Amino acid sequence: MKCPACGAIDDRVIDSRMAKDNSVIRRRRQCLACKKRFTTYERIEEILPYVIKKDGRREAFDRRKIVEGMRRACEKRPISIERIETVADAIEQELMDRSEKEISVSFIGERVMAALEEMDDIAYVRFASVYRSFRDIEEFIQEIRELSDLKEAREQRRSQNGSPDGEDAEIQDSP
Ligand SMILES: [Zn+2]
Repeated sequence: MKCPACGAIDDRVIDSRMAKDNSVIRRRRQCLACKKRFTTYERIEEILPYVIKKDGRREAFDRRKIVEGMRRACEKRPISIERIETVADAIEQELMDRSEKEISVSFIGERVMAALEEMDDIAYVRFASVYRSFRDIEEFIQEIRELSDLKEAREQRRSQNGSPDGEDAEIQDSP
């Protein structure tokens, strides 16, 4: 964005805020050359990057696709739609702040996986299996193995800390 004071084109975004009708975004910017701050109003479709898909095609960013993918992964899991929406909002906000023209679909996928990993193991593995489209079953098993190792380490830490271990009782294998 061209600085209105000195005409330099390098700036950083300090703050991004959506207008009420969600079609225009107001941004505070700071010129990197003269440090002057200025405000721009930009249409939302000009702000969000195009998503580069695995086959190289570009498509407009669509927040609903994140929500839809997460909902599918979280089916019958104790995850509220509000939490899913919060993750989608955070990813959208991050993309707006980065203000890049294009972003790879794996960038978004990794963000979603990181969020799901914190929320729910089953939802995480479901999403990862679709998202990463594992090359073969070995790779999928490896992922699950790493996940259960992680879990074991967490549980060990928990029992070492001497805190009660009730919350995982329901998912323990029965003999
Ligand atoms: Zn300037």
